[in-house]
Amino acid sequence: MATLDDVVAWLRDLAGTMKEHAAELTELDSAIGDADHGTNMARGTAAVAALLDESYDDAAALLKKAGMTLVSTVGGASGPLYGTFFLRMAGPLAGKEQIEAADLGAALRAGVEGIQQRGKAEAGDKTMYDAWAPALEAYDEAVSGGQDVGGSLRAAAEAAAEGRDGTEPLVARKGRASYLGDRSAGHLDPGAASTTLLLESAARTLG
Ligand code: ADP
Ligand code: MG
Ligand code: MG
Repeated sequence: MATLDDVVAWLRDLAGTMKEHAAELTELDSAIGDADHGTNMARGTAAVAALLDESYDDAAALLKKAGMTLVSTVGGASGPLYGTFFLRMAGPLAGKEQIEAADLGAALRAGVEGIQQRGKAEAGDKTMYDAWAPALEAYDEAVSGGQDVGGSLRAAAEAAAEGRDGTEPLVARKGRASYLGDRSAGHLDPGAASTTLLLESAARTLG
């Protein structure tokens, strides 16, 4: 079970995590993109962290505000995608004071559906979706096996890391990296790396 306070802790941890890993994410983006993914994510999540001193009716209200803030501060491809993720996550959590593992699963699924609708990526396109898709599957499987929020998120984060590693040999079919064609192969996708960090942060702080 997770509460609004846990979501606050998550978003605070996320800002610290993105700051800590900004250089690494930007390094990945310099190989197959425009070398800004780390600074984009650090800037956006710092703006989200600045929202955390206000009070919110529930986690859904905070996540909605976080999503709008990411859209307006990050820009590029990842701003609208992560922004949509948080905005859509809010839907299934509306009015819930206690977030059970299945509730969070529904929220994660809604968020990832938003990413897909917006970015139109499919599995194997070498995007953040290649981390999200196995993460959702692992999360649901863990919940079915009786795991709580924390255990299910740990399973999701591990699956995301495998998905991230699996992007290395792929040729990008979406986003800037796709402009490189075959030369995009041999590098990890930066968005799949930030998605893994986001889920690792959630596993540390929620549940
Ligand atoms: P930009 O490419 O505009 O500079 P970022 O560098 O912040 O934006 O983010 C790049 C990441 O966004 C990529 O590594 C990839 O994971 C993700 N991405 C790009 N386009 C798409 C898309 N259409 N669907 C899903 N993810 C995408
Ligand atoms: Mg970039
Ligand atoms: Mg850019």
